[in-house]
Amino acid sequence: MISFYDVDHKIDQNCINYLIKYIDNYILNNRCCNNYPNCIHPKEQTDPNLLHVNDKFIDIVRNDMFDKFKMFVKEDKLNITYLKCWALKNKGSTQLNWHQHSLRNSDKEVSFIMYLSDTTLGTEFETNNYNMITKPKKFTWIFFNSDILHSPQIGKENNMRYVIAGAIGCNRNGN
Ligand SMILES: [Zn+2]
Repeated sequence: MISFYDVDHKIDQNCINYLIKYIDNYILNNRCCNNYPNCIHPKEQTDPNLLHVNDKFIDIVRNDMFDKFKMFVKEDKLNITYLKCWALKNKGSTQLNWHQHSLRNSDKEVSFIMYLSDTTLGTEFETNNYNMITKPKKFTWIFFNSDILHSPQIGKENNMRYVIAGAIGCNRNGN
């Protein structure tokens, strides 16, 4: 299942401008992995801990993400087993990068995406039953089950695109 939610009103253009500067700074010391730049990751990608920081605006994003996460899973009493969140910046890509985020270690695993920039490039999704491409819209959360294959839509743009993407795992209480 894929669902779309408007972001909380606190995530406004001012907040987005702040986040973009924050990401520009954060990425310098928090690259995708220890093998950067000799790794398979998109070149301008942060580590998975973007939402683990204490910061006024990151707090707003994390809180809103959890609110929408609860709407998506429609369950209250869940224990989070992991939270990963990356930021990516690029001007598009010339090849598809199909992947999914499921670790298969939790009762529920959900992924999310938010575009921080105006862009024409969305995200492609593929299941046994459909292919679809989302319209890339700012101020919108995309939530989907983590086992759904997805890829950034290919294409090139003049301006830098900023995207937040992540994955959460959770167990029902008692597990
Ligand atoms: Zn890497």
